[in-house]
Amino acid sequence: MKIGIDLGGTKIECVVISEDHQIVFRERLPTPKGDYAATVNTIEQLVAQTLPYAPANTPVGIGIPGTLSSDTGTIKNANSTCLIGKPLDKDLALRLNRPIKLANDANCFIWSEFCDGAAKGTTNAFGVIIGTGVGGGLVMNHQLVNGLNGIAGEWGHNPLPHFKLEQQPCYCSKEDCIETYLSGPAFEKRFLEQSSTKTISPVNAEEIVNLARTGDSLAQKHLDTYAKMLAASLTGVINIVDPDIIVLGGGMSNIDELYELVPNYLQEYVFSDTIHTPIVKAKHGDSSGVRGAAWLWND
Ligand SMILES: [Zn+2]
Repeated sequence: MKIGIDLGGTKIECVVISEDHQIVFRERLPTPKGDYAATVNTIEQLVAQTLPYAPANTPVGIGIPGTLSSDTGTIKNANSTCLIGKPLDKDLALRLNRPIKLANDANCFIWSEFCDGAAKGTTNAFGVIIGTGVGGGLVMNHQLVNGLNGIAGEWGHNPLPHFKLEQQPCYCSKEDCIETYLSGPAFEKRFLEQSSTKTISPVNAEEIVNLARTGDSLAQKHLDTYAKMLAASLTGVINIVDPDIIVLGGGMSNIDELYELVPNYLQEYVFSDTIHTPIVKAKHGDSSGVRGAAWLWND
């Protein structure tokens, strides 16, 4: 038995995974906004509910929107800012009185897909989150890579390559980060900017994609450019790591067209005459984060 927790910006999810990889318990509670103590309490409350399904000494894996700083032993790079500077793993180990492992949520995502999802059976896998933000995680030689600075896989805060566009500021204080072009909100914002003279004004990514499917040329071009920017951005990953597979997750990964468009555009950018890298959708969808947190205890 393993317990996984996905600490998200809006909800905290908890699962118990059985020996045969089945989720035998699942519960979600809202994330207390901006309140660290209440967040710890909520996690304790969720873990208490697992008792009928998993023994009291069952280890807990936690996926967080950030990472542990090796310098301070506290959380850094978290967009849930109340976590920053807090020793969450130590606080939870004390409170829950059991072993705790903590990892970045994008790392949990690819670890789940590597252990029993779309990347099962590979040796090196790269996981991409394209959702509200853009993140990533890397598995090399069957091991999840954390990195010296705890940021392995964070391709979303590299500058967008190959495109000369108007500079975009990123929340991380840098400019032109891939995230500012490839996140769901960026996809929506850029479309609205271009379509301001038109009468139609779709509000979300799904509607823009539906417009493209019904033949709207502006939406088609927008989706095509997005795929091209994604291909250009993944080129950095392929040229350096050359993974066996790239698994896409997050809301934007549900756009089926990407799985045809992106591999075609890779040819333009990757330093190789042939490119065999499969680009596939996550097998476990939104559940990969919480599953991967539980799988942190799978050596
Ligand atoms: Zn950034």
